[in-house]
Amino acid sequence: MAQKLAAGNWKMNGTEASLAEIDAMLAAYPDPGCGVLICPPATLLERMSRRIGRGKIATGAQDCHMNANGAHTGDISAEMIKDAGGAYAIVGHSERRTDHGETNEIVNAKAQAAIGAGLVAVVCLGETLEQRDAGETLDLVGSQLAGSIPDGATGENLVVAYEPVWAIGTGRIPTMEQIIEVHDFMRARLVERFGAEIGKSISLLYGGSVKPSNAAEIFAVENVDGALVGGASLKAADFGAIIDAL
Ligand code: 13P
Repeated sequence: MAQKLAAGNWKMNGTEASLAEIDAMLAAYPDPGCGVLICPPATLLERMSRRIGRGKIATGAQDCHMNANGAHTGDISAEMIKDAGGAYAIVGHSERRTDHGETNEIVNAKAQAAIGAGLVAVVCLGETLEQRDAGETLDLVGSQLAGSIPDGATGENLVVAYEPVWAIGTGRIPTMEQIIEVHDFMRARLVERFGAEIGKSISLLYGGSVKPSNAAEIFAVENVDGALVGGASLKAADFGAIIDAL
């Protein structure tokens, strides 16, 4: 059985003052009934990790470099994320695929680096509106899944997040039928590649405009094990309501 996980991606948001939201979360959810992960910007990772301590809420980074160290100005490695207290690294978010030209091969190498350092890699994938309208969603998701996920992935070191690009930050979400179709497809492909035991143990998150008002409906889908939440993860009350729905 895959772990239930509510994950927050703060993207390029947050300074010292935002840590008050973490205090509110810790007070409200000292023992959440599911996995909870927050990925703040790199500048806050160590501070947030210290603030949380060894509690039930995990922290992670929004990206990691594929190499352990070296001449890569501005980048951070998986070892550094771990050193800062992070346990997860998001890789292959569509904003990075678009803004930084990250291909499936690059995402795969980053996921390998994260896993090699003992982190859980949260591999993101999802189609654009043009690809959906052209009927290419499952082909695209299938090739991203095959290309971005390294061999040796398990339910302990990998989480997959399906984030349709057109649903991110837009307030639009797919129909439940569309979510079911893609999540069932991803589960089948993972079972095909890694076998039933591992394939069924990998958490599949949905991401894109998840809010307190739509979370319960999305979480009722069989192969949705949680959510990767952007905007609504910035406020403890909203993210808390999503945790409650899971
Ligand atoms: P929103 O929840 O703001 O749509 O962002 C989703 C996302 O991209 C999470 O990684």
